[in-house]
Amino acid sequence: MNITIINFLFVFCWCSFQIFALPDTILIGGIFEERDEVQELAFRYAVERVNKDRSTLPDSKLSAQIERLPADDSFKASKQVCKLLRSGVAAIFGPQSENTANHVQSICDAMEVPHIETRWDYKLTRDAYSLNLYPYPPSLSSAYRDILMKLKWKNFVILYDSNEGLVRLQNLLKEKTWTVTVRQLPDNSDYRPLLKEIRRSQATHIVLDVAPEKIYDVLDQALQVHLMSDYHNYFITSLDFNQVDLEKFSHSRTNITGVQLVDPQKPAVEQVVEEWMYGEQRYGRLLPAHLKRVTTEAALMYDAVTLFAKALDDLDNSHQVDIDKLYCEGDKTWQHGNSLINFMKWYGSRPYTSNDGRRRSRAYTAVTNFTQMEQIQVFGLTGLIKFDTAGFRSEFQLDILETDPREILKKVGTWTNQGGANYTRTWAELVDALELNLQNRTLIVSTAMTPPYTMLKESSEHLKGNDRYEGFCFDLIHEIALIRGFNYTFREVADGNYGSKDRNTGEWDGIVRELLDHKADLGIVDFTITYEREEAVDFSMPFMNLGISIIYKKPQKKSPSLFSFMSPFSVDVWIYMATAYLGVSVLLFILARMSPDEWDCPYPCIEEPEELENSFTLLNSLWFIIGTFLCQGADIAPKAVSTRIVAGIWWFFTLIMISSYTANLAAFLTVERMDSPIESAEDLAKQTKIKYGCKMGGSTYSFFRDSSIPTYQRMWSVMSSARPTVFTESNDAGVEKVAKADGQYAFLMESSSIEYVVERKCELTQVGGLLDSKSYGIALPPGSPFTGAISSAVLMLKENGMLHKLKNKWWKQRKGGGHCQKEEKKDAASAAELGLENVGGVFVVMVGGIALACVTACCEFAWKARKLATDDGVTFSEELCKELLFIVNCKENSKPVRKKSSSSNTDSSSIYGSTNYGYTDKK
Ligand code: GLU
Repeated sequence: MNITIINFLFVFCWCSFQIFALPDTILIGGIFEERDEVQELAFRYAVERVNKDRSTLPDSKLSAQIERLPADDSFKASKQVCKLLRSGVAAIFGPQSENTANHVQSICDAMEVPHIETRWDYKLTRDAYSLNLYPYPPSLSSAYRDILMKLKWKNFVILYDSNEGLVRLQNLLKEKTWTVTVRQLPDNSDYRPLLKEIRRSQATHIVLDVAPEKIYDVLDQALQVHLMSDYHNYFITSLDFNQVDLEKFSHSRTNITGVQLVDPQKPAVEQVVEEWMYGEQRYGRLLPAHLKRVTTEAALMYDAVTLFAKALDDLDNSHQVDIDKLYCEGDKTWQHGNSLINFMKWYGSRPYTSNDGRRRSRAYTAVTNFTQMEQIQVFGLTGLIKFDTAGFRSEFQLDILETDPREILKKVGTWTNQGGANYTRTWAELVDALELNLQNRTLIVSTAMTPPYTMLKESSEHLKGNDRYEGFCFDLIHEIALIRGFNYTFREVADGNYGSKDRNTGEWDGIVRELLDHKADLGIVDFTITYEREEAVDFSMPFMNLGISIIYKKPQKKSPSLFSFMSPFSVDVWIYMATAYLGVSVLLFILARMSPDEWDCPYPCIEEPEELENSFTLLNSLWFIIGTFLCQGADIAPKAVSTRIVAGIWWFFTLIMISSYTANLAAFLTVERMDSPIESAEDLAKQTKIKYGCKMGGSTYSFFRDSSIPTYQRMWSVMSSARPTVFTESNDAGVEKVAKADGQYAFLMESSSIEYVVERKCELTQVGGLLDSKSYGIALPPGSPFTGAISSAVLMLKENGMLHKLKNKWWKQRKGGGHCQKEEKKDAASAAELGLENVGGVFVVMVGGIALACVTACCEFAWKARKLATDDGVTFSEELCKELLFIVNCKENSKPVRKKSSSSNTDSSSIYGSTNYGYTDKK
């Protein structure tokens, strides 16, 4: 029942509002200055379109009341506003100039009549009754900043024509991440002197903030003074940048970026523009040729009228709206002005929801306050029309445009308040654009003569151009050129340097200088990517990785020592073994004497012997232990458990020691020991005898100069204070110095170059590991448009193995490559045989042993001869002669036993018999 009553009330209210509808003709005022021709036509055209489109204000028609003004005549403007208000207008549009607009705004504010503008206005506060559809300047400024950030601009010049430009670009000026130079265009139309000055300052990035009609002239003059090359980049702030005819500049290959608020390719926009140009009234055709297109301000005017009509329609649906005639001198105001302006501001804002979270129906919102209306989004030619709470259009979308050789201007991304700048180009599109940019161009390649990177060809003929050069870098550029379809000309860098920065002047020399001056497009050699260089120029992806190392004279082979057979064990081990031998021998002797089983009758045939004998005398123990140690055994063997345990343990010890010795011996005899005074950078730093240096002004030089590691700092102070200088002009000179210095000079050089040298100069070698890790890259002028294309080509060559092939070719095959490897193989083959020098010591030991045996034999012989001479009562010499004669007489193999004379002691043995038994008289 209740619901029925409520429904009835709604229907009743709805019908009663229809009775108090808007008048048939609604007047809207437009104030335009002479120069606002386009806005005026857009205003009229928009009114006509609203009147045609019956979906808004179906029962009324808009009528444009246009007042024209001379430029900046604010007095007349005030009079015209009053005139319009007197005629009963619902809103006033325009004018465009700041002075007159401010007057119009204040009168409208006082009369509470909406004042709608479409102009750039830097004021940060707005009157309550005024609305500006032009994007909010701080948001626009943020958009420019975001785009330049995305483009990674670091240094640029802002070129502006009016002071408004500086306000517009305030966010760029405030940003700390880049360096900005600000220059104002002169009042006259000759911008060349200023542009030349900018060219001389080597600025390559320019933000151009000038009125749309000046853009073409500025760019044209920039072209004339060569400020529009591949390396120059322009960012144009004007929202009407797309109106400028850029065809002429697209051939200069300068990158021009800009933004647009109105996308002329959008179907809705296309349709409006079509009618604008070719519709009944042919508004566009009424304009002078250069103004025929729909400018941003014209599109904004069109959107302003559309928005107003929509708001009035919605207001009409919820309120009884009558339009009053107002008098500037009176105090009556328009009661609906506030609602109308608020309707316009609230479109697109947060939707109103009821407490239970449900959206309200249109029927319901029709009878409620406008603040409770549903979210309605209004799209115009300039996109979504939406205002923030302060009444500024801070949310809008910009298209980012770039010049493109095929399409002149191409949409490459968008900017929005929330998302910032976003590039929408795919990788394929980007690569395509880069390739197109490079095709059929001739790039100048700056290089220096450093083998094997770039070298002069050896030829009997007189060579010209690129034919003069060869080497790894030359081949690399050739391969990249094949991929990217460009031509190239190699040119030697004038001063022969790679590029180092003068600490005092901040000026660069060498290849870097040529790139900065745009005298070369690419720089290639063993060009190390360093932080300092990276700041000055661009680098491609690295094509080789390396690190600093030391090149030094190869260590001399150590001639094997005579006693190298002793090397498998250290001296300590030998001493321990000798001690063990003596210790175990003595232990065996003692244990044998202690253990009863070792006491035996020497003659097994005697059953009850009176005497027992022990075979392990001290001498026998020593003999047994040495015999078993040398794996030869002995004619005595332990019988008791204790002695057998000792013998077993000794044998085990012997087994392990002999096996270890044998295993180690082969290695010690075959491996040649190298004798090098330095094995690392630390060794170099510690000593003062061997001098060391590096290439002057190269990356190795900078590495030591700027290092914070104490060892390298010490090395730097030694190098920099050395007299005469230890630095060389080139790596080649350094290598020569090492070769000649006979171990008195070491050169710090990059490992890839060392690799090349040691392949050819066998007497030199790399000492120690790498001190750092870095790469070589192809250098390009800062902001070069070719960096991406060159980088991706380098990656391609890396992945398909071409770089590896080229390295093999220039390092191992050409120009004497592989020479040292062959030598090494030969040496290795000869090292397989052991020479006398390896085993000579064993012979020495043997000879020594034999000599000892002979001396011992002589001593034994003399001692026995002396004893017999005493026994027989003859002289020592007689006895000696007799025995010598017997020895010399080799026919006699037996000898009679010499009986002991009665006067002498009981010993009756011959010179060879020392006991009472053991020899048989064979005669
Ligand atoms: N590759 C070095 C450079 O780019 C030159 C050689 C060196 O300094 O070791 O400067």
